[in-house]
Amino acid sequence: MSPSDGESREDQERTREARPLLLRWYDRTRRDLPWRRRRDPYGIWVSEIMLQQTTVKTVLRYYDRFLDRFPTVGDLARADLAMVLKFWEGLGYYQRVRNLHRAAKIVARGSDSPLWPQSVEEWQSLPGIGRSTAGAIHSISTDRWAPILDANVRRVTGRFFGIPSGSKGEMRRLWEASDAWGADNPRPGDTNQALMELGAVLCLPADPSCGQCPVFSCCATKGCGKESKPAPPETTAGTLPKKVAYPLRRRVALVPASGALLFEPRGEGRLLEGLLEVAGFPSEGLSPGETVNEGGLFGWRVVREIFFVRHVYSHFREQVQVLEVVPPEGKGEAARACERSVTEVWASLSAAEDLALTGVARKIVRRLRTEGFRDIPG
Ligand code: SF4
Repeated sequence: MSPSDGESREDQERTREARPLLLRWYDRTRRDLPWRRRRDPYGIWVSEIMLQQTTVKTVLRYYDRFLDRFPTVGDLARADLAMVLKFWEGLGYYQRVRNLHRAAKIVARGSDSPLWPQSVEEWQSLPGIGRSTAGAIHSISTDRWAPILDANVRRVTGRFFGIPSGSKGEMRRLWEASDAWGADNPRPGDTNQALMELGAVLCLPADPSCGQCPVFSCCATKGCGKESKPAPPETTAGTLPKKVAYPLRRRVALVPASGALLFEPRGEGRLLEGLLEVAGFPSEGLSPGETVNEGGLFGWRVVREIFFVRHVYSHFREQVQVLEVVPPEGKGEAARACERSVTEVWASLSAAEDLALTGVARKIVRRLRTEGFRDIPG
């Protein structure tokens, strides 16, 4: 459905008046962020993917390091996924980087002349790139117009144009309204960046700073839009629901008393796919004297519990009992050698620092080191 003539004209009148105010404010106050110093599609693309569901403060710790290691899309395409994951470790939402790596291979085509997408539709055809991300990369790297609607811009757009949250056809209206910023726009990329900046620093979710807003005079809600966000769901008793408790998963991790640590990759399709975890398996816990009856250290015997580690991921919590284990009687290094498989990795504690580990595995390695566990030879 296309916008009514009246809505479309009104949207464009509003943006025409507001755009110079918005851009002047952006030029004067914008944060100096490393990706704002570049206009190349690769640098913009990496920043847009990193910034999905992640704060600017966190991305700042990763962005330059990632681009120093993979300076071009060809470098990224040629790199092993394990190495790419290593430079993403800690940013979370690892499906993003797996898609980025897959898409880099498509763009790089195995040659030194990457074939860059030329339109929003071509960007959207790559793995992991939705309409808003495609619009952001395209508009910033080419300075040609494309609307965006990430979480911040969606909020700004709803308030600025007075589109009630939860209303029928809301998404369609939001995209139409966002597109209105593009009419006769001399600075399309900067306009989108200014809208993102406005949502990030002034038009905040709970408490918009309308008094400092550059487009206050043209805004349809002037802050009253904050009431238009959906009310939190009520329980049947009419009280606010309790804080959601993420499911708790219990696991044991096995640390050989002698020899290197064994790391296993998380399988395909699983959360944190490709990252390494300390060998073990889901379990309520094992006691000293019990024998390991599954996984890469099958048949090994538990000597003692070393400590517990807890970690909160985005959708679940994990509690891991870390156990010291020894090989079955009469089997020493040979037992360890025959457990090897192509996907498992043996490493000393210090060598493990260079591997792409899950959050829990990283905690276990660091804790073993700080507790004086010796650096076991690989
Ligand atoms: S006036 Fe307030 S609600 Fe409107 S865009 Fe500015 S900060 Fe957001």
